[in-house]
Amino acid sequence: MNLANWLARSATLTPDAPALLHGAEVVATYAGFADRAARIATGLHGRGAVAGDRLALFMSNTPDYLAIWWGAWWAGLAVVPINSKLHEKEAAYIAQHSGARFAAVSVANLVAMSLTYLADVDEVYPTDAALYAAPMSHGAGCYNLMHVMKGARHVVPRSGGFEPAEILELAGSVGSIHMFAAPTMVRRLITHAEAVGHRGEGIRTIVYGGGPMYVADIEKAVDQFGPRFVQIYGQGETPMTITGLPRHLVADRTHPRWRERLGSVGIAMSSMEVRTVDEAGRDVPEDEVGEVICRGPSVMSAYWQNPDATASTLRDGWLWTGDMGALDAEGFLTLKDRSKDMIVSGGTNIYPREVEEVLLRHPDVAEVAVVGRPHEDWGEEVVAFVVGRAGPVDPAALDALCQSEIARFKRPKEYIVVEALPKNNYGKVLKTALRERFAKAPA
Ligand code: AMP
Repeated sequence: MNLANWLARSATLTPDAPALLHGAEVVATYAGFADRAARIATGLHGRGAVAGDRLALFMSNTPDYLAIWWGAWWAGLAVVPINSKLHEKEAAYIAQHSGARFAAVSVANLVAMSLTYLADVDEVYPTDAALYAAPMSHGAGCYNLMHVMKGARHVVPRSGGFEPAEILELAGSVGSIHMFAAPTMVRRLITHAEAVGHRGEGIRTIVYGGGPMYVADIEKAVDQFGPRFVQIYGQGETPMTITGLPRHLVADRTHPRWRERLGSVGIAMSSMEVRTVDEAGRDVPEDEVGEVICRGPSVMSAYWQNPDATASTLRDGWLWTGDMGALDAEGFLTLKDRSKDMIVSGGTNIYPREVEEVLLRHPDVAEVAVVGRPHEDWGEEVVAFVVGRAGPVDPAALDALCQSEIARFKRPKEYIVVEALPKNNYGKVLKTALRERFAKAPA
């Protein structure tokens, strides 16, 4: 199947419906969107492109992004979205290699992703508007598919990025907004909304994921905006589709274990099987930590031109995610950390997220990242990078908090106060960059 059928169908059903918006201004109807895609396809064919060729998309968010994306599909090409913030050399490498991830997938997995979304995450109506406040080369862009399928609107903020004030303004003028947001974006949006007294009017759904959402943050977000949040857990290898925490569970405060559920990534999506296993692939008992593996139609068929990576990641039909997590009796999955972020100190595993959750409860702490620092005797020791809220941060107070909440061996041995944490432009904290600081300046 060619996914461009979805665009052609929406253009036939609702030719005059608004499709592409730049800020609040409509720049194309569905007929116009489909026409542009068809003309781009003709242009590509005219330049010798044939079905199966790959088109690298190296540009920041604009309405043209979607026209080119669907034009490439219309022409039968595969799209390789490249983060526009990458260095030209890095982008050139990806273009040359033709996309280690997305180019490798057949479209069947994107169909599965879209249908699973409609079954488990959210319904989509023609009156909705997908707002792209995060780079379209990543998760946010994935969500354009179901909105094209259903003939909804696509809104690219004029700033081209994530500006809380602009988003709340668009929620008012465009309405029925749906957006994907990394946890750090949710936090910034809510901080701004609190300051201006906005209660989420005009926002229908915020899908969050891509990194850990701390319980304190999502609690606050629900207090401010109400039941508008859905969590998803996925990865490039099975785009946006492994587990989900549906809206009513994100907002529920009645279940005896609602806080634990809020700290989880939810339950397996309808098309997915999810297990937690040891290194040999044996299921670990309930509530114990193992590597998360999953199976389902949204999983990629292979990495592009990388058989070794494919063989270690796809084993007997299961995708090994590299994430460590625990399943409870009801099937809720709680992620501990990426296996590479786990700290091993004195032979014991320490999951940084657990320590971070505790530290974030301190009123002076705005953000925190816990990592392992190489240590002669212990292998690694726990170190916390802390961003203060306003004034100074007192390490003794943080240590006292940890003492009252978690085992002694998990307590950070040092608190390093920093202005900001290094993040990529999807808002993920770059723990590798923090660990590299130790390599440069040993303790
Ligand atoms: P990427 O392939 O770049 O999208 O990164 C996927 C990784 O992000 C996953 O393997 C997880 O480690 C992390 N991730 C995705 N969704 C969540 C979530 N809801 N909570 C915590 N971590 C997540």
